Amino acid sequence: MTVRIVLDRDKCDGHGMCEAMAHEFFELDDDDRLTVLDENPPESERAKVHAAVQACPALALSLQD
Ligand code: SF4
Repeated sequence: MTVRIVLDRDKCDGHGMCEAMAHEFFELDDDDRLTVLDENPPESERAKVHAAVQACPALALSLQD
């Protein structure tokens, strides 16, 4: 089963913790607008993505199985 990254854009305020922890999956542009580069990370990357989601101080990220 693949996991899906869910971003609540209303909560995100561009801290960039997620990008710092997993830049393959999260990218902030110059206006601090976050793009989820790959919403369906492979199982092998789950731990890394999970850590990045947990690191978000705004609780804007979650994972959906
Ligand atoms: S860590 Fe959270 S608030 Fe910061 S850019 Fe990522 S999703 Fe947005």
